[in-house]
Amino acid sequence: MEGDRRHSATDAHRVTQNLRDVPTIPDISFMTEHERHRRPYDNVLEAIGWTPLIRLTRVTKGIVTPVYGKAEFFNPGGSVKDRIGLPIIEAAERSGELKPGGTIVEGTSGNTGVGLAIAAALMGYKCIFTMPDKMSQEKVRLLKAFGADVIITPTAVPPDHPDNYVVMAKRIAKETPNAIFANQFYNEANPDAHFATTGPELWEQTSGKITHFVGAAGTGGTLTGTGRYLKSKNPKVQIVGGDPQGSILAEHWRSQGANTVEGAPYKVEGIGQDKVPGTLDMSVIDEYQTVSDRDAFAMARRLTREEGLFVGGSAGLITHAALNVARRVNDPSALVVTFLCDTGERYLSKLYNDEWMRENQMLDSEKATLGQLLDAKTGETPLVVSTSAAATVRQALRLMSLHDVSQLPVMDGTNCVGSVSEGVLTSKGLEDSKVLDKSVGDVMDAPFPVVDDGQLVDSVVKLVNKNNPAVLVRHAGTVAGILTRSDLLHFLMAR
Ligand code: PMP
Repeated sequence: MEGDRRHSATDAHRVTQNLRDVPTIPDISFMTEHERHRRPYDNVLEAIGWTPLIRLTRVTKGIVTPVYGKAEFFNPGGSVKDRIGLPIIEAAERSGELKPGGTIVEGTSGNTGVGLAIAAALMGYKCIFTMPDKMSQEKVRLLKAFGADVIITPTAVPPDHPDNYVVMAKRIAKETPNAIFANQFYNEANPDAHFATTGPELWEQTSGKITHFVGAAGTGGTLTGTGRYLKSKNPKVQIVGGDPQGSILAEHWRSQGANTVEGAPYKVEGIGQDKVPGTLDMSVIDEYQTVSDRDAFAMARRLTREEGLFVGGSAGLITHAALNVARRVNDPSALVVTFLCDTGERYLSKLYNDEWMRENQMLDSEKATLGQLLDAKTGETPLVVSTSAAATVRQALRLMSLHDVSQLPVMDGTNCVGSVSEGVLTSKGLEDSKVLDKSVGDVMDAPFPVVDDGQLVDSVVKLVNKNNPAVLVRHAGTVAGILTRSDLLHFLMAR
């Protein structure tokens, strides 16, 4: 039955061997094959969980500790939160709170809404979700696609404000007949779902070899349930939390609740809090790391581009923390698992949109200076090829051809007094060959602008256009190099 196998370790091994540049071929033979997808399911809910565990081989370059990602975006709703939808609904049915035809109300950053909406669709319940306005438009549309009513609330309100998304959801549930408040932040069915599924899956997928589990708390359900299960199997497993800069959770953990800090805004969605949720059991956490939006988004983009794992910002944040752990542990026999919470499709208008990233100063390359760009420019050509006003047009054209450049600054000592371009000189020479023996000073155009090497590349992009094909870069008072339209275009294309 070799040909029938889907998530076969052997197949994965073979594919990996065909990739170029793989630093080490992962030994995943210890992973037991599971039964997933080998039989038809009765409905989509059965396809939730048993997400693949995938080794990271590119972003881990130079790190000896193996790091694996639990790919939660394989869930039918595209996120880890599919795991809690059905258990929450079933618990409410068991308690008699939720009756046929009822309504499920929840405050959600989007993914829990999808998890609940999938289960509700099959079980005949209606959904009303409240969602802070910082969440992506993709998530709002997605919830509406499932037929849910979505109410957008302001993000920047205190946790007890009537317009806070959780407070509002609670109120709507109270005011709506036959409705329940799913209450993921205090509902034990949430961590219990991870104790029953995520934890055992990881234990089995790693044959009990997992040494570190790195996650991040939104509700804390994942960290609490998975952490409790893994520690019940092996108390030495380290549970590491990643927290966005601006969330209060890491500081609360560090000070054991002694420090009350104010939350600050941040861009990563779905994780971090301004209040400790009831479903986060801080006692399972052995280490907390604070990670910036910039690092989180940069890692999410790297996971997509380098590992082919199209994930959201929280996965980037957790993986950034997981790589810190793996570097520090520095042990090939350890096994670090990072959590890839949801799909990047939910953030196409945000972290995968360069314009949005630029507006929010999230791109590293936004900070590149002209000096750095000059340093990165390599090749045979000297950093500035220039001519003098006294040289002939013929000499200037030869110089351009010799160095394979299309324009030259005309220099008088350290001053740029004019410029010539191959295009203009060629047209003039073809019109009247006498021009070739004229001096450059007679035919030159305006000088190139001179800018300091500390200036940001983005600030000078607009200086370069059809009439002005280059800028001269000055270092410590003297011209140190030239950046042309094509240099700047290559820079913009590379980011
Ligand atoms: N990442 C994303 C994108 C999420 O939406 C959530 C849940 N809000 C999490 C991570 C965190 O999961 P948990 O609620 O189990 O802590």
